[in-house]
Amino acid sequence: MTTTVLSSPARYVQGAGAIADLAEHVGKLGGTPLVVSDDTVWGIVGEAVGRSFEAAGTPLVRVGFGRFATPGAVDELKERIEADGHDVIVGVGGGSTIDAAKAAGHLAGIRWASVPTAASSDAPTSALSVIYSEEGEFLEYRFFPRNPDLVLIDTQLVANAPVQFLQAGIGDALATWIEARAARRGQGSTMAGGRPTHAGTALAELSWKLLHENALLALDAVRAKVVTPALEAVVEANTLLSGLGFESGGLAAAHAIHNGLTAAPQTHGLTHGQKVNLGSIAQLVLEGAPAEEIEEFIVFTTQVGLPNSLTEVGLTPEHTAELRAVAEAATAEGETIHNMPFPVTADLVVQALVAVEGISRRIRAEYGLDAPELHVAEH
Ligand SMILES: [Zn+2]
Repeated sequence: MTTTVLSSPARYVQGAGAIADLAEHVGKLGGTPLVVSDDTVWGIVGEAVGRSFEAAGTPLVRVGFGRFATPGAVDELKERIEADGHDVIVGVGGGSTIDAAKAAGHLAGIRWASVPTAASSDAPTSALSVIYSEEGEFLEYRFFPRNPDLVLIDTQLVANAPVQFLQAGIGDALATWIEARAARRGQGSTMAGGRPTHAGTALAELSWKLLHENALLALDAVRAKVVTPALEAVVEANTLLSGLGFESGGLAAAHAIHNGLTAAPQTHGLTHGQKVNLGSIAQLVLEGAPAEEIEEFIVFTTQVGLPNSLTEVGLTPEHTAELRAVAEAATAEGETIHNMPFPVTADLVVQALVAVEGISRRIRAEYGLDAPELHVAEH
């Protein structure tokens, strides 16, 4: 029997200053929370979270975090939960912190909440974590029977965060529609464990539409550190709509190529969304998308500030061994590239990636946009 599945967080809260209500929302899930947050993020939000917890009379216990959601980092958090008897884990910060909190909450059998401090990926809403090695190489997806019980995002924090974070989130969210429409034509199942629901597909398309209407204005808002309706729309597109859209609409080639790119050390300094964006343009070329669609995607993502060429991620068409390694990893058994509506081999991926470089250079020149240059990693 073929079933369609929609999976979503129990509660999604978004708005300027929403962090002030964190303890109130967490209080519905448990009385002894463990907050996970790295020192940089805690320097920004620690005081506000502290005030929220104090007002609610909730004890505040916070533990630090490294760079990646590694198996070791997850196990450490699980041990901490069990040793101190926490009943809810709250991941505050970027995608890796949140993924580690989700995975540890699942292992320890308690509830979990996601509090992203930037709109830099669609990881916070999903019922899965991406696990990496200490070096930042993709290791595995871990799937959980539940989504987060709470996702809370404060748009003033998003406005105050570096603009590169929002750019990355836009790259991640643009891929959602490109992948969901391919997954609908294919035969595979979504991350939610069934065929795509119409809801999942529709939310992916809505995310695409909102981004085209609001992304450039939202980036202006973040550069000015202010919250505008355009920024609110993009935060919802990047976080909620893209999250539901990828999980219940289906992933395909773009994220598989992202995962493959993590096998090339040149790309390790790049954000998830930057690598995903190269995966998106490679998927469009791979599937033979119409020329005007490819043109529009390159022009728009160049305006957003996202890489759409090999050069920008530190590779060239002459990096034969690296491109082969990327393509082999992208087409590994179980990868979402096999959700494409036609068989995809490593050879086809290599050829698409090589083609992308010339296509990007030609279109950018035609539109008077800057030629591709190596993106400098932002951390
Ligand atoms: Zn993603």
